[in-house]
Amino acid sequence: MTSIITLRGGLTTQYLLPCTGGYLQVEAGDEKEFSLFLRKLKKAGVDPRQIRYLFLTHHHGDHAGFTSFLREVSGCRVIAHREAAHQLNKGKNAMVPGGGLTNRRALMLGALLVMLRKLNMRYTPVELKEGDMLVEGDDNELLRSLGIPGKILHTPGHTPDSLSLLLDDGSCFCGDAAMSRAQWALGTRYCCIIIDDMEENYRSWRKMIGEGARTFYPAHGAPFTPETLQRHLDYFKQDDLVFVKR
Ligand SMILES: [Zn+2]
Repeated sequence: MTSIITLRGGLTTQYLLPCTGGYLQVEAGDEKEFSLFLRKLKKAGVDPRQIRYLFLTHHHGDHAGFTSFLREVSGCRVIAHREAAHQLNKGKNAMVPGGGLTNRRALMLGALLVMLRKLNMRYTPVELKEGDMLVEGDDNELLRSLGIPGKILHTPGHTPDSLSLLLDDGSCFCGDAAMSRAQWALGTRYCCIIIDDMEENYRSWRKMIGEGARTFYPAHGAPFTPETLQRHLDYFKQDDLVFVKR
């Protein structure tokens, strides 16, 4: 099996996993970063038409934002959670009642990114088509049918539609279910800056570790180990969230 390609730079990291006939891409990205993404792809020596599937870890704009553009150049099929479909069709981040920002610094960073238009709540709607694959939850067959030795785990908490992709070798592409970027500055203890349900978030950490995750590859930041997550488990409670809508 050819190795996994990591496309760093910009707000969101994409990963290309070899599959039958090409690659499965984990994460799109903010639509303003599409030209940057194409440059990263070219530098990696990959033609967009080699991307056969796009695995969306959830519907947020910095993950699903340039899906429509990527489809135009690659013709790829989308894999996402069924609950993502509605928001993808609208091209809009959902706000879940009760959710909020992990701490005050996360709130400040979130506000700054929105102000600088780095974090966009809206994006070009994704028109789901025949051939796209919506999963209901955990799935141990879909990836294997595409030539990828691994499974899909439903890992809610950051959002209800969050999915992670766990390879049999323990590589776990967790989207925003956990995040390592700027931990020293943010103090979010490996949680993403936005959390819909903190308890569910930690349940998802336990699930990924219990299913055999050995290295986490997040959408934001460098890889980290399960021991790292274990050290920070249950640090926050739902009531700790700030900017909570009640
Ligand atoms: Zn997100």
